[in-house]
This record gives sequence, C-alpha cells and structure tokens, in this order.
Amino acid sequence: MQTTLTDSAEEAAAILKSGRVVAFPTETVYGLGASIYCPEAIMRVFQAKGRPGDNPLIVHIYSLEQLADVAGEINSDAWKLIDRFFPGPLTLVLKKNPLVPDTVTGGLGTVGVRCPANPVAREFLRLSACPVAAPSANLSGLPSATSWEAVFEDLDGKIDCVLRGNPSAIGLESTIVDCSGSKPLLLRAGAITFEQLQAVVPEIAANTSPDKQAPPKSPGLKYPHYAPKAAITLCHGDEKRIEAPSSAYIGLSEPPEGILLYKLCRNLEEYGSELFSFFRHCDSKGIDTIYCELPSNQGLGRAIRDRLMRAAGKK
Ligand code: AMP
Ligand code: MG
Repeated sequence: MQTTLTDSAEEAAAILKSGRVVAFPTETVYGLGASIYCPEAIMRVFQAKGRPGDNPLIVHIYSLEQLADVAGEINSDAWKLIDRFFPGPLTLVLKKNPLVPDTVTGGLGTVGVRCPANPVAREFLRLSACPVAAPSANLSGLPSATSWEAVFEDLDGKIDCVLRGNPSAIGLESTIVDCSGSKPLLLRAGAITFEQLQAVVPEIAANTSPDKQAPPKSPGLKYPHYAPKAAITLCHGDEKRIEAPSSAYIGLSEPPEGILLYKLCRNLEEYGSELFSFFRHCDSKGIDTIYCELPSNQGLGRAIRDRLMRAAGKK
C-alpha cells in the first residue's frame, strides 16, 4: 500500500472520510485515526499497529457538541475536568453511548474521550466531521511516535496517510482519568499532573497498586510498552555506574563518564518531550543500554517515571 505524506489537513480528512486510516499530529504523541463509524478502518488500525483487540482506542473529538455522540451519562466530576482541561492532553473514561462500536472500546461499557488542543489536530478533526478513534501511531510495544518521521518509520506501507506536523510538544501520551465510577481514578499519568487534577476534583485517587487478580481498569496497561531495542537501566542522579560497552544516557543531572551518546535535559518538560525520540535515536545508532535517570514522583515526574518503569519492564 502507498502511504500518502501530506501537509494538508483537508486532504488527510478527505482520506479518513473515505474509510481509510490516517496518522495525525497532536500535542501528546502522533495518533493513528479512523472514523468510529467505519468498522473496516478500525480493524486496519489494530492490524497496522499489531495491537491486541482487547486494548481500547481513545476517541478524539473536535468539540463538546460531539460528546453526546460518544458518551452516555457524564457525572459532575467529569464536567469539572472537561471545563478545566478540554481541549488538552487529558483523556476521560466515561460511560459509553451504545452507538460507539465494541471494536473501538474493546467490548467495555466505557469509552476514552479526548479533545486535543494542537491546531493541526483540531483542523483535521473539524474537517473529518466525525469522532476519530486513534491510538498512538507506532508499532505496538515500541516507543510512541512524537514526529511524523517516527510514524513513517513504523507504519510506511501499512496505513493510507500521514498528516505531517511539528514534533509533539509534550511527547508523552495523555493523562487518563476514569470518571465512570463513584470517584475519579487516575489510570495513566501524563502532562496534566495528579496535583492539577486534585485541585479540581480533590477526591481523585491514583491507580498505584493494582490488584493483580482483578481485571485491569485500563486493558492497555497490562501490555509491555514504550520499549526500545536497547536495554533500559534506571538510575538516580548520584549513583550512575556504566557497565555496558555501548551505552547512552538521558536525564536531568550530568551524564556519567564514558557515555557514547547523551541527552541532558534542562527540566522535566524537556525530559518528557525528548524521551521517546531519544529512545528511537539510540536504536538507530545501535546502542545496547540506555541509562535513564528516574525523576521524583512530583508533577510531570510521575508520568516520566511511569514510562521509564514500563520501558524497563518493571511495571
Ligand atoms: P494509546 O492510545 O496507545 O495511548 O492507548 C490508549 C490507552 O487508553 C490504553 O492504555 C487503553 O487501555 C486506554 N483506554 C482507552 N479506552 C479506555 C477505556 N474505555 N477504559 C479504560 N482504558 C481505556
Ligand atoms: Mg500506545
């Protein structure tokens, strides 16, 4: 299959509307989109990524008017979060509208909904004129794609179109909050921090120690994620000993001696936005081991820690 590369949101939306599959930029990571009303295209999203069918897709909307098309009853906590954080890097899990196909939600009675803020994403969604189901535009298990080049590397020949935009400003997937129960629950940390959420809905809990016996609240979280080919070794600012011969480092404090390749980040925002592209860069250079400094669990540090632990297979 020929993958069209375009800078035109209009062309990309026309391709989506004809029942095909389109990758598009957002402020979190690039998404791989299909109309929720086109079952064949939804199936092709799963196939192109190699994504397990029980891992639900997040549905992207342009405006709050589309909320009723995807969600059922919305409680007052969910409305508070919508008022404060939509459009933006927040996904809410809500009771679903029965018209949303089970293939989109992995058979769950809930649906993940997000309204992106990135202007190119917004233009694409406006012109698509339907809710767009979109997981991250990468091969399942690999680091999410934060540039159109990374999308192309993983999915050239497997999808119909890539809408080119700038690299994703945040570079980490959206914060996910489950608002389908009696009190909000943080399922995945992201750029909207737990502290910011607490300021709006003080009763929110974090899904910190999941019961291994119970079915996972977010099916995707049970699968391996974000892993480059290189091994990941987690380290702290003051204890960094390099043992692997061909190694790289990313973190906030000075790199250890003898490192081949490193990314010294000025702050957590830069750490988050560079992390996945650095993983991909290391793989392209044949690096064996990437040493990653674990930030504290505060603010954006929570999301970066989460991705690092998963990439290292420790979560
Ligand atoms: P991705 O789009 O690749 O970042 O993955 C989407 C994440 O959202 C996965 O971890 C899914 O399990 C999660 N997700 C999507 N819809 C729901 C839902 N209805 N309930 C719980 N988690 C969801
Ligand atoms: Mg993903």
